Amino acid sequence: MSYLAWLAVLSLAAVIAERLRPARRGQRVLRPELHTDLVYVLFNGHVWAVLTGGITGACALWTRSALDAVGLLPARGILDGVPFAAQLVAFLVASDFLQWCVHRLLHRVPFLWAFHKVHHSARAMDWAVNFRFHWMELVVYRSLLYVPLLWLGGDGAPLFAVAVFATAWGHLNHANVALDLGPLAYVFNSPRMHLWHHDASSEGGVAKNFGIVLSAWDWIFRTAYWPRERAPERIGYPDDQEMPSGALRQELFPLTRVPRAEHHSP
Ligand SMILES: [Zn+2]
Ligand SMILES: [Zn+2]
Repeated sequence: MSYLAWLAVLSLAAVIAERLRPARRGQRVLRPELHTDLVYVLFNGHVWAVLTGGITGACALWTRSALDAVGLLPARGILDGVPFAAQLVAFLVASDFLQWCVHRLLHRVPFLWAFHKVHHSARAMDWAVNFRFHWMELVVYRSLLYVPLLWLGGDGAPLFAVAVFATAWGHLNHANVALDLGPLAYVFNSPRMHLWHHDASSEGGVAKNFGIVLSAWDWIFRTAYWPRERAPERIGYPDDQEMPSGALRQELFPLTRVPRAEHHSP
């Protein structure tokens, strides 16, 4: 099954789960900006890969030959020949930790925050917000993850399975679904915990809960903040009224603005 087919199945499953077990009963399914976020789902989940497949392949080849030239391209990856299940766990843990680090950078570096603001400009949370992000995030994540994953080696099938699983969990984190993970919340991220990542206030620090699939990194590195008895008063970021509406204008918005050095992300 292709990634696009998985994306369709997972999105449908998320819509059904939101109907069956909504966390916020007052939230409308056909909410404002849903059409914008559906454009992002299609663009970031499929069209971008089609448009940039050639250049991504060329960059990958160039990186491999550059690493080879300086003797940093290993003849054998760490996961080569390792059983499928072990590769699955290793890819999940390694890629999730790297993404947690990149996500922190997106909040800390003003140049990157200018792009990440698009994700945080969502005013209502449901599964479709998972794909509401600027295409520059794909460039940043893939560039920074490529070399470590190259060194890990291994097979394409477990890596693809982890990508699908991460998409499923990302949908879940943003979904309007009532879910209590119990003690597993110290290992896995959840809709209630990720809602606080989208908190517009500075309560508990201006940035918290950077986890993608795993929440463990936030608990370990003390960036977790989760008052379990309530939800944030408002989601977004302090100046989010600056964000234009519509995917095209949002894609152009960070490119036309020079981030101020003193800017603080939420
Ligand atoms: Zn963020
Ligand atoms: Zn999010």
